[in-house]
Amino acid sequence: MIDFDKLIHNHVKREEKPKVIGRYYPSEIGSCLRKIWFSYKYPKETESELLKIFKIGDMLHNFVVEVIKSEKNPDVELIDAEMPFELKMKNFVISGRVDDIVLLKANNKNILVEVKSISNVNKLEKAKPQHVMQLQLYMFATKIRDGMLLYVDKRNLKSKVFTIPYDEIEAIKALERFSILHEHLSNNTIPEPEAKLDEEKSWMCKYCEYRDLCEEADINGKKDR
Ligand code: SF4
Repeated sequence: MIDFDKLIHNHVKREEKPKVIGRYYPSEIGSCLRKIWFSYKYPKETESELLKIFKIGDMLHNFVVEVIKSEKNPDVELIDAEMPFELKMKNFVISGRVDDIVLLKANNKNILVEVKSISNVNKLEKAKPQHVMQLQLYMFATKIRDGMLLYVDKRNLKSKVFTIPYDEIEAIKALERFSILHEHLSNNTIPEPEAKLDEEKSWMCKYCEYRDLCEEADINGKKDR
């Protein structure tokens, strides 16, 4: 009998290079800063279950591209589906493959669309703040001022769209997060447990592979005080 789970596991597995301080990834901006810090200081291989979730995200992205390109949808035109991203700051660079963005044209307007797969679109009432932050950063870098967050339900391809106007203050706030991260990494000081301290972000801790280290850091921090 073929073990197909094993074949999928082998297929999604990828070689990961250690991250280098000074090079940051736009897709991480909405994550807990302490978690990103840990990923530089104590790199871990991405778990197979998470890689499979990423794969579903890629597959849905390709599906959205197919829908936009379809001759049956003449009102929208695909401009780009694989956009390079690079922002050179004074002391560091933000760059990387942006694989959840498509650029389309509708009503003579170029719109940057961030595509996110979701497990139940009916439960979603507003765009998730970490996704809005990411999109603001992309709009800042590309100088495209019209954004949309498109959520697609993994179960039934139902979708929900949120229009996100460009907000320079929010884009700058996103950039500042990288500066804070860079400072902490360069000075070897651990950031605050951001997700733990914020009710809206506390769900992130449930999926965080650095929970134990984070707990330990807080206990040691209290002892040192
Ligand atoms: S456990 Fe929560 S607060 Fe700690 S690093 Fe992970 S996400 Fe951040």
